[in-house]
Amino acid sequence: MKIYWTKINKIIEETPEVKTYLLDCPEDFTWEEGAHTHFALEGFNAGDKPNRSLIRHMSISTLPHERSIGITTRIREQCSEFKSILRTLEVGNEVAIFKTHSNVPLKREGKNVYLLSSGVGLATFRPLVLDYFERADNVNHIHSLNIDSSRDFLFTNIFASAPDKKFTSQFVDNRHDYYEEVKKLAADKEGFFYVVGSDEFLVQNIEVLREQGMKPEQIMLDKREQQLPNFLSLDLSV
Ligand SMILES: Cc1cc2nc3c(=O)[nH]c(=O)nc-3n(C[C@H](O)[C@H](O)[C@H](O)COP(=O)(O)OP(=O)(O)OC[C@H]3O[C@@H](n4cnc5c(N)ncnc54)[C@H](O)[C@@H]3O)c2cc1C
Repeated sequence: MKIYWTKINKIIEETPEVKTYLLDCPEDFTWEEGAHTHFALEGFNAGDKPNRSLIRHMSISTLPHERSIGITTRIREQCSEFKSILRTLEVGNEVAIFKTHSNVPLKREGKNVYLLSSGVGLATFRPLVLDYFERADNVNHIHSLNIDSSRDFLFTNIFASAPDKKFTSQFVDNRHDYYEEVKKLAADKEGFFYVVGSDEFLVQNIEVLREQGMKPEQIMLDKREQQLPNFLSLDLSV
């Protein structure tokens, strides 16, 4: 496993609580849309065993041609040790990234794609949408639905409906409206439904999608192959 130490080159305040850390891209480092990485802070590998409190999974919110690795995260006032250290980092400070992999590349099978996310979950989808804008081959249409109760919606310059690009985007601030919309979207029995958010969010979305007749192979989760059955073979009667 190769550990890439790299520097923060810019910090973007997306909203009062959400920041994007742009990292220099090491020459031999590349990734696919939908990728996540292990994002680690100085000292994480100083002892015999890696210090897990200094490592988090994070999606990469940029594409390689943007020339920086983007990590977008919410830092609340009450936060973990990891985030309280991250909050103090500045441009020029070093961080590490390793074990990068995409579980959710864009499916180009001539279908409609629905991107369902909660809060900063939208960061996982930013590169999928940019990839689609650059090359729409074999994707019929993309629709994004994001729920964020803070109402400080993210990436609104990209996630704006554009009929000419066959892209639509919706933001909602409450669960009722969110699940009503999911049910409407699920009228498309052929589409692919990507879901990104907390495990609880995944479980609820899967339940609604399965009730609407969606098959497990139509539901894409940012989980390793081995973890998928834990979510997608849920017994609906439970
Ligand atoms: C494949 C994958 C991709 C991911 N991608 C991203 C991503 O792109 N961006 C992202 O942000 N996360 C992502 N995550 C989740 C990420 O790994 C972290 O689990 C998440 O950001 C929470 O971070 P944290 O544990 O540092 O907790 P925090 O975010 O600091 O806290 C989590 C919650 O606990 C509360 N809390 C924490 N500490 C305290 C305390 N001391 N007192 C009271 N309340 C407290 C906070 O208010 C918050 O509500 C991803 C996870 C996976 C598996």
